[in-house]
Amino acid sequence: MNALERLLGDRELKLPSLPVVGLNILKTFKDDDFSFNKLAATISTDPALAMRTLSVANSALYGLPNKVDDLERAVKILGGDALKNIALSFVIIEGLKKYETAEYKFEDFWKTALTSAVAAELLNGKLRKRSGAGFVNALLMDIGRVVIFTVRPDEYLHLLEESEITGKEIVLLERETFGFDHQQVGREILDLWGLPESITLPVAYHHDRENCPKIYTDSAEILNASSMVSSLYHGLNSAHKMSVFSSLMNTKFGFDDTAVFEFMDDAADKSLDILRTFRIDPGELKPYSAMLEDANKELSKLNTSYEQLVIELKQSKERAEGLADKLVGANKKLRGLAFNDSLTGLYNHRSFHEAMDNEINKVKKAGVGFSLILFDIDNFKAINDSFGHRQGDEVLKTTSRIITEATIGTNDTGMVAARFGGDEFALLMPGSDINEATIIAEKIRKDIEESNFQSAGHLISFTVSVGVGSCLPTDAILSKDMIFENVDKALYVSKKSGRNKVSIAKAET
Ligand code: GH3
Ligand code: MG
Repeated sequence: MNALERLLGDRELKLPSLPVVGLNILKTFKDDDFSFNKLAATISTDPALAMRTLSVANSALYGLPNKVDDLERAVKILGGDALKNIALSFVIIEGLKKYETAEYKFEDFWKTALTSAVAAELLNGKLRKRSGAGFVNALLMDIGRVVIFTVRPDEYLHLLEESEITGKEIVLLERETFGFDHQQVGREILDLWGLPESITLPVAYHHDRENCPKIYTDSAEILNASSMVSSLYHGLNSAHKMSVFSSLMNTKFGFDDTAVFEFMDDAADKSLDILRTFRIDPGELKPYSAMLEDANKELSKLNTSYEQLVIELKQSKERAEGLADKLVGANKKLRGLAFNDSLTGLYNHRSFHEAMDNEINKVKKAGVGFSLILFDIDNFKAINDSFGHRQGDEVLKTTSRIITEATIGTNDTGMVAARFGGDEFALLMPGSDINEATIIAEKIRKDIEESNFQSAGHLISFTVSVGVGSCLPTDAILSKDMIFENVDKALYVSKKSGRNKVSIAKAET
């Protein structure tokens, strides 16, 4: 299974597709009778695209002596490759806008991607590489991140925060969480769109440059350097990043310190221009020399001795580290809230579904079955009505405690208990067959029946109705919905036949 399939799982999501004009642009390069005029004509079929392509061609990045105002001339001056790449970049940005939601805007992503693109193109120019290739490669190198973000936004947001706080590389966090990284996802989606290897391979290896096929190692190195420029301008901790970047530019590309500073300033100036063209807010972006100037001004304002300054720096570093620890802790707590039910601490509906997805995958892959038990408290409305909502909550907590206790000591560690809805609970038992599950279900039913407790002067006793089912590797159809439906039917049988009962789901057909 490839990374995209694993990312999507059972989700019925449509992946971003390349708009028609993008496909046509790619096609012009595969045609035998390719001509630059044909490329210009293809771009012109989308007037907005033609206009924006021309404004990039006229931007400071390409430094043309005179303004060009028609595409055919732009192709002649800049070359077909450069223009193709610029146009493709616009098409892709426009195409992906459809996948934005009110909460998740891609603006920040494009801001950093475009700054990388400008840096890569400038570096290409300095190293006398083919024009235009750096721009599109850098723009697309992190497209896998957009796709992962679109499919699993909450988890990915947490990863981004964790990486920003702890400084841990995002690809490592992705592999830990998902089992694949954004390079793989990026490469697969670009492959789907039919983009050439000269784009997909540098994208696939920009973090694993030592494994990159030889002919694309330089491109992957350029991508790495350009993403550092972008992260330096748009991220935190610029001073540290600058020293890492300087030594990289020195060892990989032979830039001395002055050349690095000039390059940085140039990248900022040209990014500002390009961001304007793409109508993206550049935020705080300013050339590195201007950042240094600001820092010097601030420094001269400090009427402190050097020693004092050192002490203050040390203290603020300690404070910052303490804060980072707290943030990681808070983050974990927040994650807990998103995945657990706040009243009982059990898994919530959503994370239970994810656990089920995993189990079903395991049945398919490893041939290991599982059982599912659903519980619904009997006449719970009446309990609320007679004793009050607070006592109702105590009943829910007691149920959760009894289900959890029943799973302890069964030497099966993979059980997942969830509060599924108001008064519904679920227990997933990986590797258990219907007999084991029925024994546990019966034990829980009985423990609950006998769990009379005192609350606010009332003796409260209650019961649950239970449905049990299991999923064997030999079952022909393994759909989560069907499994739930069958077990739910069994629960309904328990309700109908007088409540406080365990019923077994009919075998799947
Ligand atoms: P049945 O035996 O057929 O299941 O009858 P029932 O009364 O239990 O019916 P149902 O399952 O539909 O009732 C669920 C009730 O659970 C309705 C709702 O007011 C109550 N409820 C949902 N969430 C909470 C909660 O967090 N706390 C409390 N105290 N009550 C809740
Ligand atoms: Mg109920």
